[in-house]
Amino acid sequence: MKPTFTIIAPIYNEHECLPELYKRVKTTLDTTGEAWEFILVDDGSRDGSTDIIRELAQEDSRVRPVIFARNFGHQIAVTAGMDYSRGDAVIVIDADLQDPPEVILQLIAKWREGYQVVYAVRTEREGETWFKTMTASLFYRLIYRITEVKIPMDSGDFRLLDRRVVNVMNSMRERHRFLRGMSSWAGFRQIGVPYRRAARFAGSTKYPLRKMLRLAENAVTGFSYFPLQLASYLGFISAVIGILLIPVVAYLRLFTAHQELVGQATTLIVVMLFCGVQLICLGIMGEYIGRIYDEVKGRPLYTVSQDPADFQHADEN
Ligand code: UDP
Ligand code: MG
Repeated sequence: MKPTFTIIAPIYNEHECLPELYKRVKTTLDTTGEAWEFILVDDGSRDGSTDIIRELAQEDSRVRPVIFARNFGHQIAVTAGMDYSRGDAVIVIDADLQDPPEVILQLIAKWREGYQVVYAVRTEREGETWFKTMTASLFYRLIYRITEVKIPMDSGDFRLLDRRVVNVMNSMRERHRFLRGMSSWAGFRQIGVPYRRAARFAGSTKYPLRKMLRLAENAVTGFSYFPLQLASYLGFISAVIGILLIPVVAYLRLFTAHQELVGQATTLIVVMLFCGVQLICLGIMGEYIGRIYDEVKGRPLYTVSQDPADFQHADEN
């Protein structure tokens, strides 16, 4: 039977959170009186999460596991969940219970009012380091300023998406994914619901600075040409400075005694400076070219070692 709601949780080494997550999602969704399914995407966990997911699927046929053959990252895990989802509304939630499952009911209420994207906005964050809160806040503001789609500030991936939006996003097979941007790009009727982001239930963050930076890069390159424009501006500014300096240097060399200004040291500094500018601009282009190369290769976004069909209960066949 086709469920009304699909809940998607990406799992990367969350064995301590899983039983509690399942319990709270189940309790919450059961109050809706509608059919639901819970897709747990195992993103190459190595801490026994996979076995817990298998056990949950044995107990409850509404739990549908997608087991990746290796770690592909959070955004790809959520994408796989969306590919396998069947519900009329899809809710993406973190597995660490930072997004309280109870808030899902508020998202559903807005969906019933006719909104097609209901994103949860973090008004407060508990139990996160000063550094994380600061960088996250900076990230949202930067993205908001430089990208072409208006991605709501302080909203993460915790959101409800109508089937129509999910279909649009599933048709966007870009590799370096920034799902929040993609759901904003899709359009439709969107609204935010405020919530308090709780502290992690157990374990530690799976988003070290390195992964956060990569996500930020994907967001920027995926939704703007700003870095490329920046490269042109840098080039333009250097060229103007260079041209303005020609008469100055010529004058100093020919008519004054300031010979030291045009000596070797000056040449060295100027050459190094402009080499630096050029390499930075090349690097920026490289970021885009690397992404083009990844797209052209056309590899699948993820590889799956077990999917929901492998877990079908005998009574469903
Ligand atoms: N996650 C994942 N693959 C990864 C990293 C994270 O599936 O490579 C999952 C993780 O299990 C969690 C969610 O993505 O359900 C968010 O990660 P986390 O809570 O560690 O990020 P934070 O809240 O600290 O930004
Ligand atoms: Mg978290």
